[in-house]
Amino acid sequence: MKIDLCDIAGTPGARGRYSISERLASAEGPSSVRPVTGEMTVENTGSLLLLRGRLTGVLKLSCTRCLSEFEQPLAINVEEEFATENTAPDIETVDRDDPEASAMSDYVLDVSELVRQQVVLHAPIASVCRPDCRGICPQCGHNLNEGPCDCAPQTADSPWAKLQYLLSDRPRTEE
Ligand SMILES: [Zn+2]
Ligand SMILES: [Zn+2]
Repeated sequence: MKIDLCDIAGTPGARGRYSISERLASAEGPSSVRPVTGEMTVENTGSLLLLRGRLTGVLKLSCTRCLSEFEQPLAINVEEEFATENTAPDIETVDRDDPEASAMSDYVLDVSELVRQQVVLHAPIASVCRPDCRGICPQCGHNLNEGPCDCAPQTADSPWAKLQYLLSDRPRTEE
């Protein structure tokens, strides 16, 4: 989805309101269970194009401990500034030198790109499906949230672990 903001960009004081609905493709990072939606206002402050809004969605993430997929709600407050022809050159809050990073070009806002950037920015980096996720068994790969596996437990409490520790920590006196 793209929004043409030429009229607003050319008229100080003008503003517009837009409904957003964007589906995120999984190939570009986090994917959404259903489209990310929200309302956005764009206002020409006289010196800047000010974009404000709130996006909500549900992301599909994979747990870093047990590798299973889970859904996580996401809510983002968006506030972006874009340069207009009246923007003074000393205002540095806008991405005027980096068209690659900007979702706006020639006053056409690429909403898909904006939403993608915002989601990438706000999606959790290390996500777990739940705080007490037990992860997977390091030996057989079984998801321990679904119950224990048949592997011998290798906890620090086991007498063998203690013995191994003592043996490995023992100073070598033979040399
Ligand atoms: Zn998990
Ligand atoms: Zn196992």
